[in-house]
Amino acid sequence: MSKVLVIGEVKDGAFRQVSFEAIAAAKLIDDAAEVVGVVLGANITDVASELYAYGADRVVVVEHPHLKEYTPEGYSQALQEVISEENPEGIVMGHTAIGRDIMPKLASKVGSGLISDAVAIEDGPVFIRPIYSGKAFEKIEVEDGLTMVTVRPNNIASLEQDTSRTGDVSKIDVDVKNLQTIIKDIVKNTTSGVDLSEANVIVAGGRGLKSGDNFGILEELADVLGGAVGASRGACDAEYCDYALQIGQTGKVVTPDLYIAVGISGAIQHVAGMSNSKIIVAINKDPEAEIFQIADYGIVGDLFDVLPKLTDEFKKV
Ligand code: FAD
Repeated sequence: MSKVLVIGEVKDGAFRQVSFEAIAAAKLIDDAAEVVGVVLGANITDVASELYAYGADRVVVVEHPHLKEYTPEGYSQALQEVISEENPEGIVMGHTAIGRDIMPKLASKVGSGLISDAVAIEDGPVFIRPIYSGKAFEKIEVEDGLTMVTVRPNNIASLEQDTSRTGDVSKIDVDVKNLQTIIKDIVKNTTSGVDLSEANVIVAGGRGLKSGDNFGILEELADVLGGAVGASRGACDAEYCDYALQIGQTGKVVTPDLYIAVGISGAIQHVAGMSNSKIIVAINKDPEAEIFQIADYGIVGDLFDVLPKLTDEFKKV
């Protein structure tokens, strides 16, 4: 039987949803494979066992004080030891900031290729990933060697949670040493609410908002819909909001169920980060705005009239 490792990611004491989606991806790679959840950190054994409920066949943790926070060196040392101990045929991780950083590094260390940002996996397995800023998709098959993949959040559905599935969590001891970077403390960004890259609903604002204070009307709608606020680079450059909210080619790539673009013109660099959203709603006073070309629903109007009305209507639901 083959074996696929799934590297789970824990944030603020809970798994990121994409960790469960990565388990489903591992099953799509080889339904008969043993799926081994791997979690790195400090005091994470209890949390790690949750991977069983989402389909892991076995769960291992690597605990070390220097793995409490992510560092490329620490994770790379630890994961190389896990790989040599487990000798898997495949490794899957979320295409998150950490996944994007560590997986290419690991791939080069173990002499493997990497399929990054897969959005679907067909029989074969055949991996589908966007290219040219989401304008086209390519299909990739791995002919031989290790199959290493990162999967884009919100694209491959996780398996149904089954809390009756439980199991032991075993430990792998590693020697994390000679680190050039040790993280002492993390100062949290106060603007963070629902994680943008995993949000099901995003209300994004552009330069049409005219000021940072006006972002409040986006937050109201996002709160009602249980979503997150995002932004165009135009809005970030104008200092209406933090760059952490930027969506696009040089910002975050998102694929929510619902993306509401408010006062955003639809420049190609913005569209590159959101065009794969399932439903796109655009609100813009210019009927010729490019954003309407990719929108499923468009509202031509002044956002300062439209948005409060939308929020009021959603409050009634
Ligand atoms: P604008 O283009 O100024 O559009 C504002 C829109 O608001 C207009 O369509 C206008 O009709 C509408 N509007 C104004 N007032 C109202 C109102 N009252 N009611 C309703 N509508 C109103 N951009 C990104 O977003 N993400 C990226 O990652 C990114 N990366 C880039 C990388 C490079 C190398 C380059 C060169 C550019 C990049 N850009 C990126 C910038 C991009 O080209 C655009 O400049 C930017 O997306 C424009 O932001 P915007 O749509 O908010 O502003």
